[in-house]
Amino acid sequence: MSSVVVPATPRPAGSPLAGVKHVIAVGSGKGGVGKSTTAVNMAVALAKLGAKVGLLDADLYGPSVPKLLGTDERPTQEENGRIHPATAHGIKIMSMGLLGGDAPVVWRGPMASRALNQFLGEVDWGELDYLIVDLPPGTGDIQITLAQAVRLSGAVIVMTPQILAAEIAKRGLKMFQQVRIPILGLVENMASYVCPSCGHEGALFRSGGAEKIHAELGLPVLASLPFDPTLVGEGDDGRPVVLSRPDSILAKAYLDLAARMAAELSAVLSGARNEKPTIAEMKPNHEGRMFKIVWSDGVSSLTTFKDLRYQCPCAVCVDENTGHRKITREQVREDVHPTKVQTVGNYAVQVHWSDGHDTGLYGFDYLRRLLVKQA
Ligand code: ADP
Repeated sequence: MSSVVVPATPRPAGSPLAGVKHVIAVGSGKGGVGKSTTAVNMAVALAKLGAKVGLLDADLYGPSVPKLLGTDERPTQEENGRIHPATAHGIKIMSMGLLGGDAPVVWRGPMASRALNQFLGEVDWGELDYLIVDLPPGTGDIQITLAQAVRLSGAVIVMTPQILAAEIAKRGLKMFQQVRIPILGLVENMASYVCPSCGHEGALFRSGGAEKIHAELGLPVLASLPFDPTLVGEGDDGRPVVLSRPDSILAKAYLDLAARMAAELSAVLSGARNEKPTIAEMKPNHEGRMFKIVWSDGVSSLTTFKDLRYQCPCAVCVDENTGHRKITREQVREDVHPTKVQTVGNYAVQVHWSDGHDTGLYGFDYLRRLLVKQA
């Protein structure tokens, strides 16, 4: 059995997810395509293949993970505030659905974002190879909050084969690309139907969606899962098919999906997938008054504190309509220096400057264009 455990760059010590190697989001353009079922079965499959796995149900408005895993175990909280996740089938789980109360969640964005940050920051996830995050459908506050709060290793996008669903999925794909979360691949769900009587396998919907996206965007199709009529009942009973019917076509397909996801992750991390470079290290040298930036593709670049402060891309420094810079180089103090540098998700750094300015998010793409002369 090949290992699905993929090495990772460590997160900073003391950060909430310090023990978590990879955070993988499972998303979809619209609801009802089988995203949660895929997230749960992929998580169970990864655990079955030897990985330490957690599952965060970020579908705060419609949590279905507890039901799919057949648990109502409550997470516990210590006096110091740390929350211990529930466990089911060897997987650590956190979900609004485990916190009690039958009232539907009618929060607006900011409250939901706060809850997600709590799930990420105050839950003791311990040592994990994978934290799988079951996202709500679409591209909203939760997706953005997640992208800003943690370094995601990648995303898996689930869709049904209809062209229409694929078009909606494409919007979701763009959002992940904008915040530099590598899309590890697509899962085409309910792609075919195997007749239980005669074994004939036929297409269920008008097909071609995943291939179209594959052709247009070059993304791998990680799995093409058949429609399985018994899955709905199993989901209702909290028995993931990977465990309840390990020899079924679907269970094998989920195990293949887990292995292929891990293989794509390795490819992305080794640079074989040619993702856009990210910043691996950004170190201030206070004596030389400059930053040294090392990129994930090995390129390094230098920039002075003064120049980087001058090139701040925020709306205070640049006119949003004309694109003209509103400050001059002379207005920037000679002794300006960073007081704090923070990475934002996978896509930007925020520098707090000694002159009190901290509204600039320097996107990786922007810094790369600014600092690296392309051959
Ligand atoms: P989403 O998270 O996208 O809203 P769910 O995972 O909740 O979707 O799945 C929606 C419904 O479709 C559930 O009843 C689930 O059991 C069913 N379902 C998902 N995948 C399959 C499949 N491959 N075969 C049969 N039913 C499926």
